[in-house]
Amino acid sequence: MRQLIWFRTDLRVQDNTALASALSAGPTLAVFVLSPEQWLRHDDAPCKVDFWLRNLPHLSRALGELNVPLLIRHAATWDEAPAVLAQLCQEQRIDCLQFNEEYGLHESRRDQAVSQAMAERDISVRSHLDQLLFKPGSLLTQSGSYFKVYSQFRKRCYEQLHIALPSLVRMPAAQTPLELASDPLPSNVAGFATPSDSLRQHWPAGEAEAQARLEGFAAQHIDYYLEQRDLPATPGTSQLSAYLAAGVLSPRQCLHAALISNRGEFDSGNPGVITWINELLWREFYKHILVGYPRVSRHHAFRPHTEALPWRQAPDELAAWQQGRTGFPLIDAAMAQLLATGWMHNRLRMVVAMFLTKNLLIDWREGERFFMRQLIDGDLAANNGGWQWSASTGTDSVPYFRLFNPLSQSARFDADGRFIRHWLPQLSRLSNKQLHDAKALAGQAAHVGGLFGGADYPPPMVDLRQSRARALAAFKQLGEPLSHAGVPQ
Ligand code: FAD
Repeated sequence: MRQLIWFRTDLRVQDNTALASALSAGPTLAVFVLSPEQWLRHDDAPCKVDFWLRNLPHLSRALGELNVPLLIRHAATWDEAPAVLAQLCQEQRIDCLQFNEEYGLHESRRDQAVSQAMAERDISVRSHLDQLLFKPGSLLTQSGSYFKVYSQFRKRCYEQLHIALPSLVRMPAAQTPLELASDPLPSNVAGFATPSDSLRQHWPAGEAEAQARLEGFAAQHIDYYLEQRDLPATPGTSQLSAYLAAGVLSPRQCLHAALISNRGEFDSGNPGVITWINELLWREFYKHILVGYPRVSRHHAFRPHTEALPWRQAPDELAAWQQGRTGFPLIDAAMAQLLATGWMHNRLRMVVAMFLTKNLLIDWREGERFFMRQLIDGDLAANNGGWQWSASTGTDSVPYFRLFNPLSQSARFDADGRFIRHWLPQLSRLSNKQLHDAKALAGQAAHVGGLFGGADYPPPMVDLRQSRARALAAFKQLGEPLSHAGVPQ
């Protein structure tokens, strides 16, 4: 029974459920489908698409060691995927198509259409849980609905993990070579600019790199994760999100690496490990939300009444935020990090998102889209979840009256200004105190050429107190209770 494994965001051979299943069932071929128009429609960032492409040679080599040829096909949009895959299956006399599940409305529709096309040709289809620890729909509330509150979801995850840990899939043995060579691999696709070398150097491709990062993090940093995870100048987080989003690494591999450094415990023992596993479970939570509440997949607010918020049309202010010209150093440094590396520290994602949606009162969808177009780890569920959390429109989101003040946040999490000075060298001569002080920043900006040595830096673009009051008034108009629950991540 000839098998075809369709790689999507699972670009690895180790701990890959569909690959192991295909190889145990019969002679196996692999395919990756290029869908540039679909990726554009999804706002996939050029650096993310480039990361997928840079991972393909590693994947192809690793598959080569298993004697699995990797073929490349083109389906500009996913509407074309059923016909493209059906033709390939016919040419290669495939009996069974296997893939790992992806979540999101378009992904589900695509997979249903492909399955239908296969059924019409008597080709069987097997899909597998792989991107998550728990299948969406398998963890429900007592009334049978998807969880809306993270702490309750996590409790169910813990119960489930106590019953059985998701185990790693064994690396399959090499098959007998097939008489078929792998296709040449594309190094770029139309519509996506090639990112800079320096951006690429932040994110070397390949499973070996992902494993080395995971092992390094588990050995050297995870113990300090709780204390250091909010300090953007410190390499206190794993920086594995790009690898997880592209499936170069699996959440099971992450979970097991964490458990090894905590004597197998996930809800007790080392606080760093417990907190990191918590983050993996936030990732899980938002993907379950995406499946259980598909409106978020359509960019609708999770809490429908918040659609009535009077979002401001302020294109100049949006552009200033996007380009890191707000006059608030932590925000501008964060945006500079995003534009240069395709990644932003989690604390800063929350700070810049809250600034856009609360202080500027600009629709969270603008920020969500801009992030997606820049992020190497862009993920519909996590990005939407993070934006709606920050905008207080989402499930279990931050209460609307808890705004992060970007100056207090920088005084707290970048007290010595290391992060700010790295990304905004024009501010390097300001004292630590001045970096976090609105009056000093406004005063210094008026003296361009003095302290700034001629380099331009704008004054703060809004008055924090007034803009905060404007946001609170907008939410109060909705009749939001002051007690709206929610916990910061
Ligand atoms: P670590 O702290 O080492 O965490 C380990 C892993 O857990 C991460 O790699 C990630 O896969 C997962 N994770 C951590 N925090 C979260 C979270 N809050 N929600 C969901 N998963 C989490 N994450 C993305 O992967 N893609 C996105 O597009 C994305 N957009 C975001 C947008 C906003 C506005 C916010 C507030 C958060 C967003 N996040 C997103 C979540 C989080 O910021 C990143 O996962 C994290 O910064 C990645 O860095 P890391 O790998 O060092 O994380």
